[in-house]
Amino acid sequence: MWTVDEHLADVLAAAAPLPAIELQLLEAQGCLLAEDVTADGDLPPFDNSSMDGYAVRTADTAGASDRYPSVLTVIGDIAAGAGDLPKVGPGQSARIMTGAPVPPGAEAVAPVEWTDGGTGTGEAADSMGAAAAGEEVRVLRPVTEGAHIRRRGSDITAGRQVLTAGTLLGPTQLGLLAAIGRATVKVRPRPRVVVLSTGSELVQPGEPVGPGQIPDSNSFTLTAAARAAGAIAYRVGGVPDDAAVLRGVLEDQLGRADLIVTSGGVSVGAYDVVKEVFESYGGVDFRRLRMQPGKPQGFGRIGSRAGTGVPLLALPGNPVSSYISFELFVRPMIRTMLGAPDVHRPVVRAVCPAELRSPAGRRQFLRGHYDGAGRVEPVGGEGSHLVGALAMANCLITVPENVTALPAGSEVDVVLLTD
Ligand code: AMP
Ligand code: MG
Repeated sequence: MWTVDEHLADVLAAAAPLPAIELQLLEAQGCLLAEDVTADGDLPPFDNSSMDGYAVRTADTAGASDRYPSVLTVIGDIAAGAGDLPKVGPGQSARIMTGAPVPPGAEAVAPVEWTDGGTGTGEAADSMGAAAAGEEVRVLRPVTEGAHIRRRGSDITAGRQVLTAGTLLGPTQLGLLAAIGRATVKVRPRPRVVVLSTGSELVQPGEPVGPGQIPDSNSFTLTAAARAAGAIAYRVGGVPDDAAVLRGVLEDQLGRADLIVTSGGVSVGAYDVVKEVFESYGGVDFRRLRMQPGKPQGFGRIGSRAGTGVPLLALPGNPVSSYISFELFVRPMIRTMLGAPDVHRPVVRAVCPAELRSPAGRRQFLRGHYDGAGRVEPVGGEGSHLVGALAMANCLITVPENVTALPAGSEVDVVLLTD
């Protein structure tokens, strides 16, 4: 028998970060950057207005007040995106919108609220009238050099490194890449995980359930868990325990998988054709682990030649066992393939007010509810079919191999499952 740690080490030895590829920005969301990114140009790329207002020469506004406004001629209108800019001379101004380039001659922007908006009333305005060239605007306050101008390069200067390799690409990092004009980016791709559940008793959820049948739930749990871990997951639900059918499905899926995860058929049941099929590829090992639940596990590679091909983890069929096995072994493998720094779930110490029992020689994982403040309660019982309790749990309480009983109030290790 293998310990949990030995099996995990064996699994992780077969995992490596996937080779980097160039992806469109939105395809790269959630991936880790595989290059240092440097800005080619300045950001902003040109001096532009941070307000709607009037581009002015500062000397023209010296001493301006409500009583003695500076009266300036409006020589034109500059919208965001404007390319042709009027030159602002003494006594002149140009109406300018937020984000529009500051025209030559202008040294500052007087926000519309500091002007009468070209209304001729001399009253502070909250919006600008449509300026016809030759109209006047009254500026009611002096404007200092550079006021309300966002300077070229004030955000990022050309040549600066803006993101480092290994950064997780979320919304704001993708926005930055777009802002510096990048359409694609080099990242570690998400591993493509095929999730396949086996069992002749399985039907699709929503379909009629005949005698002895149950809806396939594992493929949903495992596909969702693979996605939560950062993978692109494909669900192949309910493959019957039929060697020819299972082999056919595997052959179809091999080409699109970086990792295959199956559930069911790995214990010692008489109809476990699953093991027979995987073993026929020559590279999959079936073993028993010193853990509860999740004792039977298969691991290896399947492909055209033994020892090559796609890594495969064959998890037990009991829903709680398969999910816990996923968390302990598959998730770290996915995180490793992603190149993520945090491969493992966080573990915290917590006090458990309930008494716990555990079989000798096995590491037990009980479903628990952690309160976020040092206290954990077991949820439901030990049965590995208890999906109701599993859905209430947010952590796993660990009881080590050499411990068979823990009195109420003991401190335990708790694996946190929340993303
Ligand atoms: P197995 O490991 O195939 O012997 O299955 C163990 C138990 O888990 C049996 O009670 C199965 O019916 C159940 N089981 C197996 N696969 C699934 C699945 N995909 N969804 C729900 N229950 C399953
Ligand atoms: Mg089965």
